[in-house]
Amino acid sequence: MAGTLRVRFAPSPTGYLHTGGARTALFNYLWAKGQGGVFILRVEDTDEERSTEESMRAILDGLQWLGIMWDEGPDPKQFGESIGPFPPYYQSMRRPLHQEYMKKLWDAGHVFYCPATAEEMTGPDGKKLTFSPYRDITREEQEKRLAAGEVMPVRFRCPRDVEVSWEDAVRGKVTFSSNEVGDFVLFKGNGQPLYNFVVVCDDIDMQITNVLRGEDHISNTPKQILLHEALGHTPPEFGHVPLIVGMDRQRLSKRHGATAVDAYEEQGVLPEAMVNFLALIGWAPGDDREKMTLEEMKQAFDPHRCTKAAGAFNPDKLKFFNELYIRELSPDALLERLRRFIPPVWLEHRGEDYAKHVFTLFQEKIAYLNEMEANAWYFFRDPVEADNNEKSVAKFLTENESAKQVLSEIAAGMEALGDGEWTEEKLAPIVDGFVESSGLGRGKVMQPWRVALTGDAISPGFYDLVVTLGKETVLRRVQPWIDRL
Ligand code: GLU
Repeated sequence: MAGTLRVRFAPSPTGYLHTGGARTALFNYLWAKGQGGVFILRVEDTDEERSTEESMRAILDGLQWLGIMWDEGPDPKQFGESIGPFPPYYQSMRRPLHQEYMKKLWDAGHVFYCPATAEEMTGPDGKKLTFSPYRDITREEQEKRLAAGEVMPVRFRCPRDVEVSWEDAVRGKVTFSSNEVGDFVLFKGNGQPLYNFVVVCDDIDMQITNVLRGEDHISNTPKQILLHEALGHTPPEFGHVPLIVGMDRQRLSKRHGATAVDAYEEQGVLPEAMVNFLALIGWAPGDDREKMTLEEMKQAFDPHRCTKAAGAFNPDKLKFFNELYIRELSPDALLERLRRFIPPVWLEHRGEDYAKHVFTLFQEKIAYLNEMEANAWYFFRDPVEADNNEKSVAKFLTENESAKQVLSEIAAGMEALGDGEWTEEKLAPIVDGFVESSGLGRGKVMQPWRVALTGDAISPGFYDLVVTLGKETVLRRVQPWIDRL
């Protein structure tokens, strides 16, 4: 369809999906989806030495986890296969097309085999020359050298003194002189095509209309524009989003925490929180909204609203979003999200309804899903000595004069309730009565109970704890303390 926005994310599979890459993918995805366009994923695996299958899989998995699904690209179900009208979407499999474009450039005289040695490409000042001393080499000379088996890279014969400029969707007008670009290499001597060449071939072939990518590619853009023109093609429109920096404004690195997206998945960040967080690094919808669904972001995304200044990765903000999104989950959804973060036996302990209820007690307390296990364990097994927080045990039980009375009198009251499910209504008169008769404050009464039941003095509300554990468990856990004190 004429006028359809076609954008792509083109990762090189040489590592994991990083936050910067994920954000670039997300921006392209949001933009395409908001405009009824097409989002394309192209794996740029031309560098055979550095590309790995493991990395490709990690990138595909990471994007799927985030919900950034591509319309055209690698088949997520069949590795190595492609879906879409311009297959394959793995660059390494597109050699014949790249050769075709090479032939076009050769026939039109835009490229030359360059016999220059490294020394010949170095100026008197020790700097690399931009233009090759062989750029006017005749075709006969090139053919003679090739026939003699000489190994030579192929260079683009870059026009001199030309202004190359474009209207960048993020940065406005950007201009380079072709004299800064020079005769760049398209194919290495060993025949391996290089990034700037293949990216142009593939962008043309896949009918890419707009390129939105990281600012680190800005100096590649004049090269790509010159190649598009040499191939008789109108270049796509370009936009360069600023890099992501840490809170100290330094380039994001391991020092700032995990840079790979899967580390956040493993920590128990919800993908919807991650996506919301990433979208707001270097972009804003232009109103006060911060918490946005993917749908809302699709409607609002516009690359012209990206900031020119680098966006900061603020871990507190990610935590804030994750808390918000965790709180919104229904009990069923919370359980589903938690499955991989909890011991499977928990769900068998007293069934899934019990587990679900327990998890809701902590829903407002955890920031990441991987915190549930360390919080909720005592709902699924009795504490043993090693679980106990020594300080809390000393303060509220062993070195607390009233502890024995607090535990035994209330336990007796509980026992007297007979059978039937406990509720706060049934238990409250027992506790209130004891608080009144003993003259002890509520804290002095509830903390020893907490420690006896959980090994520490931190837990959900007293009645939530006692009612959820239920009569049998509560009395079983408290009796040894009554005996011991
Ligand atoms: N493979 C390049 C990268 O990973 C793609 C850059 C582009 O979008 O053109 O940086």
